[in-house]
Amino acid sequence: MHIPMTDFLQCIDQNIYKLWLEMWKKDQDIKGKWYGSIQERLPVRPWYNQLKEASRDFITTINRLRFGHNTAPSHLARLGIIANNICPHCELREGTMEHLIFDCQNFLIDRLVLASDLSDVKIKCDSSSRPPPLEQLLKDKNTYKPIYKYIKNTIKTI
Ligand SMILES: [Zn+2]
Repeated sequence: MHIPMTDFLQCIDQNIYKLWLEMWKKDQDIKGKWYGSIQERLPVRPWYNQLKEASRDFITTINRLRFGHNTAPSHLARLGIIANNICPHCELREGTMEHLIFDCQNFLIDRLVLASDLSDVKIKCDSSSRPPPLEQLLKDKNTYKPIYKYIKNTIKTI
């Protein structure tokens, strides 16, 4: 009896996905914890696959947030690219991405706009207009446009 090769393809696909999933989970014990906490399930297609109007800049900016590789002074100083990890906008605190988005006193009005935009996509901020932690926000793709708008209006690029 001859079994056509195409009958095996689905089985091969499933086994490869299973292996990939096991490696994905194992890998998160060692590295990629930030990304693993945002992307809890292994995606078959990239997060922006169904966005028809997403610009390259939008995708790049959100990817940098999702991967945790960006131009925040804190990150660049950790990599040894710059010496000073202080926020250049307020010069008061360490320039982490969380500080730039949630705390920097230089962007108070923009943060109120962000809080309003997030409430439009059903994300609740606390009484001081502070949204949930970045890690939690990035799990919800509806937050990407408000966060991107905030970045473009404040620090411009990451
Ligand atoms: Zn600051």
